[in-house]
Amino acid sequence: MSNLSQRDSKYIWHPYTQMQTAGLPIGIVKGEGSYLFDENGKRYIDAVSSWWVNIHGHAHPYIANAIAAQAKELEQVIFAGFTHEPAIKFAEKFMPLLPRNQQKLFLSDNGSTAVEAAIKMALQFFFNHQKPRTKIIAFRDAYHGDTFGSMSVSARGIFTQPFNQLLFDVLFIDTPTATNHSTVVTQFQQHITEHENEIAAFIFEPLILGSAGMLMYDAVVLNQLMTVAKDHNIFCIADEVMTGFGRTGKLFACEYLSVSPDIMCFSKGITGGFMALGATTCTNQIYEAFLSNEKAKMFFHGHSYTGNPLACAAAYASLEVWEQENTLQKVKEISKLNLEFAVRLQGKKNIENVRALGTIIALDVITSEQKGYTNSIRDKLYSYFIEKGILLRPLGNTLYVLPPYCISEADLNFVFDAIETL
Ligand code: PLP
Repeated sequence: MSNLSQRDSKYIWHPYTQMQTAGLPIGIVKGEGSYLFDENGKRYIDAVSSWWVNIHGHAHPYIANAIAAQAKELEQVIFAGFTHEPAIKFAEKFMPLLPRNQQKLFLSDNGSTAVEAAIKMALQFFFNHQKPRTKIIAFRDAYHGDTFGSMSVSARGIFTQPFNQLLFDVLFIDTPTATNHSTVVTQFQQHITEHENEIAAFIFEPLILGSAGMLMYDAVVLNQLMTVAKDHNIFCIADEVMTGFGRTGKLFACEYLSVSPDIMCFSKGITGGFMALGATTCTNQIYEAFLSNEKAKMFFHGHSYTGNPLACAAAYASLEVWEQENTLQKVKEISKLNLEFAVRLQGKKNIENVRALGTIIALDVITSEQKGYTNSIRDKLYSYFIEKGILLRPLGNTLYVLPPYCISEADLNFVFDAIETL
């Protein structure tokens, strides 16, 4: 039998991969802490937390054991008409960590579905009140997922091009930068004036637009936009799928805000990176709009694996590890090292726009090619780091580090040194 890399190509179609030119995938046989090991025994530092999901390290024994124990008791049960301990235990531990107005939890199984549920909650809220609103405001460079609703509220670009005609119309505003705050707020207000009582929600990635290229912006402008939204009964949807669980230096990016969102979306780090789980939380005000003697007012959404007990057990165990290992302290240490590295990079000629927020540091590699996701510099950078035993996955010419929090200072410095010697 040939190795994993070769056997793979007979049947498997990989995500976000040009299968003709990508070359064989690396066959991974083991994960441990911040490391991945391939079938030839080569070790890689997982400096992107395997698509931003891993938190405490690969194959963390505490979470692995929690899943195994749960699998022996109850692996899955329909979540309509039935409930179970892992979901309730998770909810009881998770909800008090959120802004106090978040009172209800709806489970699904990935980030896109968490966003779908959020959008549908907002739209059906107004429908149920017999005052339908159908418009949503989003940032022009946003990324909220790959299903049709989440694509609709995302940037129109290379990811959505083949589907653009089928996406619903969204009111876009410019992504905030250091200098355009008043323009962005004005655009927001103009949309409201032009579409009075038509806008159901404003959806945003708080403080950092991930897939757009780790674009960071200030809490001040987001507070302003949310305040305007709230003045017009427009629901604020915080998509914390990427930012949640410590990435920005606090447990949730919304902790930097003075205004609380009405709806929040989570996935990725929610289970420590072990299981597929999505969560959408909302206020009592939203929840109550679905309470009625009429069945037609129930929330029309659900997935087969909604509330999967294994995923909930992993999510609960992950929250326990946060406490047991004082993970927030590790987050603070990485945040500090990032800031120091940002200083070190000052004046380096082939990079620009060095930016850091919490455990994420990003920079743009200067290139004569046109910028963008398909830029060939991306492939060169990717191969350069893989060669060195580092998994970094640049977004076009944007290079970023987003590690599991168990990464050692020595390993993080190894990654930083590799970037510095580019
Ligand atoms: N929202 C944000 C902010 C994301 O970064 C992502 C994925 O990168 C998603 C939603 C979609 O999550 P998933 O890939 O689990 O569908």
